[in-house]
Amino acid sequence: MSHGSSSEFHNFINGAAVAGPGAAANINPSNTKDVIGLFAQADKAQTHEAIAAAKAAFPAWSRSNPQLRHDILKKASDEVIARKDELGRLLSREEGKTLAEGIGEAMRAGQILGFFAGEALRLGGEAVPSVRPGVGIEVTREPLGVIGMITPWNFPIAIPAWKIAPALAHGNTIVFKPADLVPGSAWALVDILNRAGLPAGVLNLVMGRGSVVGQAITEHKDVLGISFTGSVKTGRMIAATAIAASPMKKIQLEMGGKNPLVVLDDADLAVAVDCALNGAFFSTGQRCTASSRLIVTEGIHDRFVAALAEKMKALVIDDALKAGTQIGPVVDQSQLDQDLSYVDIGVKEGARLLAGGERLNRETPGFYMAPALFTEATNQMRISREEIFGPVASVIRVRDYEEALAVSNDTEFGLSSGICTTSLKHATHYKRNSEAGMVMVNLPTAGVDYHVPFGGRKGSSYGPREQGAYAKEFYTTVKTAYTLA
Ligand code: NAD
Repeated sequence: MSHGSSSEFHNFINGAAVAGPGAAANINPSNTKDVIGLFAQADKAQTHEAIAAAKAAFPAWSRSNPQLRHDILKKASDEVIARKDELGRLLSREEGKTLAEGIGEAMRAGQILGFFAGEALRLGGEAVPSVRPGVGIEVTREPLGVIGMITPWNFPIAIPAWKIAPALAHGNTIVFKPADLVPGSAWALVDILNRAGLPAGVLNLVMGRGSVVGQAITEHKDVLGISFTGSVKTGRMIAATAIAASPMKKIQLEMGGKNPLVVLDDADLAVAVDCALNGAFFSTGQRCTASSRLIVTEGIHDRFVAALAEKMKALVIDDALKAGTQIGPVVDQSQLDQDLSYVDIGVKEGARLLAGGERLNRETPGFYMAPALFTEATNQMRISREEIFGPVASVIRVRDYEEALAVSNDTEFGLSSGICTTSLKHATHYKRNSEAGMVMVNLPTAGVDYHVPFGGRKGSSYGPREQGAYAKEFYTTVKTAYTLA
């Protein structure tokens, strides 16, 4: 799709690129002098136009041939995978995760599109015998209608892909608002899908402020479902508005985490240290599944902390696009301020700052920070209870497995959890008793497959799971039809 002048990127409404009433610069967090482009900022009226286009496109798209939906998603999948290096570079440039992580995420988006191309062909139903003579029952699934999608900045292409692909596969139409900080990857994904053959109005992109565009989507009566990923605060606001609306909307909210990684005395030390390093600090700790609470039993505590601190010293923190960088910058100034303020809070609360926690300067002006490790933390401290969303982790010392499990579950969140142990008994018990949507054994808390459900419980998530075949729970509504033969 056309995007105006070379560095200006428009919204996409009803099959056409449309300039916004405003525009905002997309800045590289590794080098704030580098402007990726000017991206449209929609207002309420333009958001309403996008919703009207999605509504008008719904009747035809909802009845479209599944082969057509398959072919469009497959074509888009092939293009994303073929362009993964370039898309990954764009992603790393606007978000700040390393090039390897950016390319990996672009690849993941391509795989997700491919999975849901197949799902378009797999939607069956059931024929059920009635309890009444001569009556037959069919239970089928139908698309929901116009779906609003509101996404965060930390997975600029994978999260949009895992919402858009199932919505399209199941015959819904979409109004998509990406996070303000990372519109580039979202724009590229929408461009690819539209060029793959989507009819006008099926997938609309409205970039802009959450309080304007996001709010307009959430309030609108013609939007029947909202799939949101982001902070707890915004999630709660969306839920309140969506439930108060008439008709009430179906909602799916993926929100914060304060994910525990338990390390037991019998763990393989190298595995445990790698899990902690990756889970706490990779992607600059900006993952909802990051392990920010490292819950470690007494017998291995000192060895674990020493080995982790040693590995942290060797981490290369630099420009996301530079070869060899392991940790890129924090996404922007306000996130950096938040991370550094939590380092202060931890010190004031009495935890010991063993490593990192300071701002770093590199060749280019960017939001660089040394990953921070606290020891002697308790689970009651704010650094152990509140989501920081940066490269900050605390080690909490516990006596034994039983205390580790109790501390692990003592949180308002429940997205992901992990345990490092060589004991089958403890691994099995933890898998069954950890209050999280995803549990990892001898693996980092972050890092999931794309063909199985993703989501949490307690304060982390609300509504049906995302991804894999489970995605249909949100993107379809069930119909029960009775026929007297
Ligand atoms: P955020 O809540 O600030 O923003 C998320 C989205 O909501 C953005 O597109 C934003 O513009 C929009 N928004 C803001 N105000 C709005 C409003 N009033 N109405 C409608 N939309 C509005 O979150 P963020 O800072 O972009 O992302 C970080 C958060 O996302 C973290 O809390 C993290 O844990 C969470 N996250 C969760 C998951 C998960 O699956 N559980 C995955 C990734 C990120």
